[in-house]
Amino acid sequence: MPQIFRVALDTPLRRLFDYLPPAPATLSPSVGVRVRVPFGRQRLIGLIVAVADGSEVPAARLKPILEVLDAAPVIDAGLQELLRWGADYYHHPLGEVLSSALPRALRLGASATAREERWLTTETGALAAAAGEPRRAPRQRALLELLLERRTMSAAELDQQLGAWRDAARGLAARAWIATAEVELERPPAPASAAVMRATGPPLLPEQGAAVAAVAACLDRFGAFLLHGITGSGKTEVYLRLIEQVLLAGRRALVLVPEIGLTPQLLERFHARFAVPLAVLHSGLTDHERLTAWRDAFSGSARIVLGTRSAVFAPVPELGLIVVDEEHDASFKQHEGGFRYSARDLAVMRARHAAVPVVLGSATPALETLQNALAGRYERLRLERRAAQARPPTLKLIDLRSNAMRAGLSTPAVLAIERHLAEDGQVLVFLNRRGYAPTLLCTACGWIAPCRECDARLTVHLASTRLRCHHCGGDLPLPERCPQCGFAVKAVGQGTERVEETLGTLFPSARVARLDRDVVRRRGDAEGVMRRMSSGEARILVGTQMVTKGHDFPNVTLVVVLNADQGLFSTDFRAPERLAQTIVQVAGRAGRGSRAGEVLIQTEFPDHPLLTHLLAEGYEGFARAALEERAQAAWPPFSRLAALRDSACTPDAALAFLAQARRLARAAPAGVRLLGPVPAAMAKRAGRYHAQLLIESRERRPLHAFLDEWLPQVEQLRSARAVRWSLDVDPAELF
Ligand code: ADP
Ligand code: ZN
Ligand code: ZN
Repeated sequence: MPQIFRVALDTPLRRLFDYLPPAPATLSPSVGVRVRVPFGRQRLIGLIVAVADGSEVPAARLKPILEVLDAAPVIDAGLQELLRWGADYYHHPLGEVLSSALPRALRLGASATAREERWLTTETGALAAAAGEPRRAPRQRALLELLLERRTMSAAELDQQLGAWRDAARGLAARAWIATAEVELERPPAPASAAVMRATGPPLLPEQGAAVAAVAACLDRFGAFLLHGITGSGKTEVYLRLIEQVLLAGRRALVLVPEIGLTPQLLERFHARFAVPLAVLHSGLTDHERLTAWRDAFSGSARIVLGTRSAVFAPVPELGLIVVDEEHDASFKQHEGGFRYSARDLAVMRARHAAVPVVLGSATPALETLQNALAGRYERLRLERRAAQARPPTLKLIDLRSNAMRAGLSTPAVLAIERHLAEDGQVLVFLNRRGYAPTLLCTACGWIAPCRECDARLTVHLASTRLRCHHCGGDLPLPERCPQCGFAVKAVGQGTERVEETLGTLFPSARVARLDRDVVRRRGDAEGVMRRMSSGEARILVGTQMVTKGHDFPNVTLVVVLNADQGLFSTDFRAPERLAQTIVQVAGRAGRGSRAGEVLIQTEFPDHPLLTHLLAEGYEGFARAALEERAQAAWPPFSRLAALRDSACTPDAALAFLAQARRLARAAPAGVRLLGPVPAAMAKRAGRYHAQLLIESRERRPLHAFLDEWLPQVEQLRSARAVRWSLDVDPAELF
């Protein structure tokens, strides 16, 4: 029996596929390289994950590999180990997991290394030159000799050396004396350690110094650190110092940031500090850009790889450190598509496999991460003071039940804005709702503009005179009259667009800017808004979640949170945590310069324990109370969760599949509980009905043992084919 190559293919089937060796002419296959193989009537690209001596498939049915695409593994042994762990932990087919770790261009067969077409002399060409040929074509002779001397040359190099050379090349090529070949671009030599730094940082504060020393003491082994520091306490400076040490030791760093944390400001800081090449990977890249960045990482020419969620899979030879900035951010959890992973959790696992430290940084750590620190699994490093001379802001609640409101703004808030503007400060107004108003209402008959595809109302977008659904993307013209009774309709409630308008009327002499997804999508201009704030041209900034991250506005002295109440009473047990994080993050935008900041939070529930804990004791106090609540209710991190979700064309079909899945689980092991199925809180979305079944366990092991047994049976259910379903391990949101 010849060697058998076990190939992972990008299919939902939970198995590998066996192939015979390719015809002898191609590259030799090995674990970690891509191969093209026959699969039914198709040809697919897959990855060799194992070499075996035999196969369970009868020899006559085995087919040979058609082509080997790589000379060396595109996924090295360490990364393969991580991905295998990920496939097990998230109970997802290995083929899909492996392929989600590669850029699309590589999945389609692009070369893993940057290549270039170069001219070279053939053997007959060399013989001809030795014999003094070609005698009567001086240009051809000059070209032939130059190529003999230099071995290979690109078209650009030839342009530079010879000027016009293409006719001569055609002549020589016609006699097969010269030819072109695709040649791997040479890896640029690693810069000498002196060339690593462009500038040195400021002297570290004692707390920063201690944090750097703690991580630096374990640069050659695994260690997980929570860098818990308030906004502006100098966490980024700590990352930069650690990366410096890693670079000086000749190794490379991987830095993960949230989707909206990857700002030009942050990149600028990296470029200003380090003289080494960076590879940047984020979701806004074209396939080609992504391939180029991946190749820079793969070849090792990039010494720092900086990216969002999926960059956790980037190849980083001689990895020395992983940093996850704003580790609590929801964008690290992939919650769509097939492979639903947490990039933060995989980063910790990757560091463990690679025996390097991982630093999780946040002003508002996830409760899971805090609990890991409390339990001693992570070492907590605190930064309690702001680095630049700046004092932390004071937080105050405004009771909406006892204060007059005007278009969403209470009188105390308006007065505070007036005062801060008069004192030359800037103001940030936060509201987590874009558009003009969340509801369009007929005051005569009570009609409310609904989305036909979702259990949701349509949002009024006045500037573009549209009604939009923020859940399915539905988009309709804005009616002037009620479609039911013909009476005039009215926009009710506040969105950022309306708040911007109101503030413009209230403060006609102050320029108001707005930052939300609509502004960014329409004008593609988040940076322009930031610049107008930084330059002081705009005095008030109204925005959604987008304003809470990454941007420094040293002159912002007042932050107003318009509505804190959305997060207080949600069916999702994580909603309070997200609200507290948002409030603390947005508050952190205030007073980053030399003046102290003020933060006002409008609420109808000023006695809500979450808010009182947060105000009295900050995020720490909130987290302590929230962890106690989680422990009592046995929610994560005090239990393990997985959600089996589905959607179907009818509510019954959605529930039926999950009910059958539940019935399969009659023999669930002790300690595993199934909850549901229940329709999702917003059952109808984009025309489909959603439902979920929760699987809960105190311990991790029984949960995973159960899922291992149960999922293959669930997959076999006939009703599985009538719905779209997915499993989400450690779900970040419960719908
Ligand atoms: P964080 O990442 O925690 O928000 P940064 O690292 O961005 O904090 O630091 C906040 C500000 O303080 C930045 O302007 C930074 O340049 C400055 N800073 C950080 N560390 C120091 C230090 N040791 N001395 C002086 N300024 C510092
Ligand atoms: Zn009406
Ligand atoms: Zn909708």
